[in-house]
Amino acid sequence: MSTGIQDLRYDGQTVVVTGAGGGLGRAYAIFFGSRGANVVVNDLGGSFKGEGKGSGAADKVVDEIRAAGGKAVANYDSVDNGENIIKTAIDSFGRIDVLINNAGILRDISFKNMKQQDWDLIMTVHVRGAYKCARAAWPYFRKQKYGRVISTASAAGLFGSFGQCNYSAAKLALVGFTETLAKEGYKYNILCNVIAPIAASRMTETVMPPDVLANLGPEWIVPLVSVLTHKSNTVTGSIYEVGGGHIAKLRWERSKGALLKPDDTLTPGAIALKWNEVTNYKEAEHPDGPANAMEILEAAGALPPNNPGEKLDF
Ligand code: NAD
Repeated sequence: MSTGIQDLRYDGQTVVVTGAGGGLGRAYAIFFGSRGANVVVNDLGGSFKGEGKGSGAADKVVDEIRAAGGKAVANYDSVDNGENIIKTAIDSFGRIDVLINNAGILRDISFKNMKQQDWDLIMTVHVRGAYKCARAAWPYFRKQKYGRVISTASAAGLFGSFGQCNYSAAKLALVGFTETLAKEGYKYNILCNVIAPIAASRMTETVMPPDVLANLGPEWIVPLVSVLTHKSNTVTGSIYEVGGGHIAKLRWERSKGALLKPDDTLTPGAIALKWNEVTNYKEAEHPDGPANAMEILEAAGALPPNNPGEKLDF
């Protein structure tokens, strides 16, 4: 059986791509438009710093998709008004199947010089924007027992990046956001994953040389997003770094750690004596839920068993 990307189609499905007027979003939108999907091409049409707006960017991509025989409509709302973007999908195509939270801006500045607006705008576009879009799509996903969500993090969020405190915080927020949506959505076949891409776009053209950018086309991000948003996918809550042909999955790693009695022997000096156990990764574990740490305490007899943890159901 071939599993080539050339076989993946999305006929009859509606894909919403935010920030699809350029860069990665445009590449996704054109791809889905060429594979039978109805595409909502959302873009506010402002600058990469989040200033201004316009309809030209989204319109151009819609024209491209239609000229190639695909189906697409434009939406010019900010992701902060995510409910309008999802409404465009429902009004135009009657359904939504895939949401790609891609819209983004940069307000790079040292932490020392950061203004409140630099922080607020980044949080609004990346975090609140992803929340507003996903929140509006969620009832449709649940009702039809089908949904695929991609949110866009960044290596800056996973590892920190000089001059990008606001952006790093927002991007890592999308990892936590995705992990929880993945847990809540799973039984409704709503699968949510997060990517940290690296690609040539107006965002990166000022910080990377042209010969490097030439090898980092946005088209090299599309295949992974295609796989993760396809109906054949079963993976959820995963984090990937992707760019220039390199695709790798990330996970948390936790040292086995030290167990100290929670009484008056748990002093700074006691921790200092156990520091090697606290920090040594030789017997590392890979936790995937808040319950894991509780299980360690349960196993050590430090907690009663059957902590309800994440067994809560809504
Ligand atoms: P880009 O600037 O080309 O694309 C972002 C698009 O989002 C633009 O077309 C912009 O108009 C749109 N947008 C901005 N604010 C919006 C809003 N409020 N509502 C709707 N649309 C809005 O940049 P890109 O590199 O294609 O970035 C796409 C995503 O990937 C972003 O979330 C970015 O943070 C993330 N990312 C990119 C890279 C990279 O190497 N290019 C690395 C890490 C993360």
